[in-house]
Amino acid sequence: MRAEYREEPCKSALNRVKGMMFDWSLNPYMGCVHRCTFCYVRAFERRADRPSDDRYGRSIRVKINVVEVLRRELARASWAHETVAIGAATDPYQPAEGHYRLTRGCLEALAETHNSFSIITRGPMIVRDVDVLAEAARRANVSVTFSIPTLDEDVWRKTEPSTAHPRQRLRALKMLVDAGVKASVGMAPILPGISDRPEQLAKVVRAAREAGACGVWANLLFLRPGTREHFLENLANDWPDELERYERLYRRRAYLGKEQTKPIREQVNALAKEHGVRDRRRVRLEPEPPVIAEQLALAV
Ligand code: SF4
Repeated sequence: MRAEYREEPCKSALNRVKGMMFDWSLNPYMGCVHRCTFCYVRAFERRADRPSDDRYGRSIRVKINVVEVLRRELARASWAHETVAIGAATDPYQPAEGHYRLTRGCLEALAETHNSFSIITRGPMIVRDVDVLAEAARRANVSVTFSIPTLDEDVWRKTEPSTAHPRQRLRALKMLVDAGVKASVGMAPILPGISDRPEQLAKVVRAAREAGACGVWANLLFLRPGTREHFLENLANDWPDELERYERLYRRRAYLGKEQTKPIREQVNALAKEHGVRDRRRVRLEPEPPVIAEQLALAV
């Protein structure tokens, strides 16, 4: 079924975020045609009274004026040039970006104002914008994370029905790193009993190292209402034997406890160390340190 695209202007581009690792988020689109079964955005949709079930990702809002609104916001005297996270609530490189180029426009606006940003994506289309990313990285802190929870073909096909193959994401990562842009792999979400076997984890970390990833981190599945129903429904079809385990693990909670998360994170950290995953960029595009008054005085 084809997605419907609604061109709807936005009033604001930058959203203040609370309780996350970043203060501001930016999403040129709302809704995501990738329609991952585990997508945590389904929970936001449920809270906003929008469909979080199989209809999620069938209707995409395109914030057609987002670039000009962003430019106005970045020009405000009150804007403190904080880091902006792009793609926290939808993939900024989903197919619509090929046509609308709104993410690219936003990156250009951020680069022009020397504003730091981070991007998280499953979309290899990001390589189209390597020129803008490289320019931005010369002026401010820029980092890209590719979500690659698994390289297991069966798991990928069943849980991320419309995303590009994870190997394509790795190729995109390599192109960015070769260009000097900092790019890492986020193994999220790892699915207990499905994609958490040691050999599955090792395969991703090894591939991340081969592609030149500057880092790798892992997180396990969480299931808030909205995501929970859809994920469990798909699980019952795809891995019926696992249903009982998930109902037990997530019975009264959305997030797993440390007893489940810690061993996986430790395994991934140990694998990253073993394989030497670290920032090995030959070219490091980084902003010039600010020139301070005393240095200027010495120079004259
Ligand atoms: S790519 Fe990200 S935002 Fe899009 S459906 Fe998958 S998890 Fe959700």
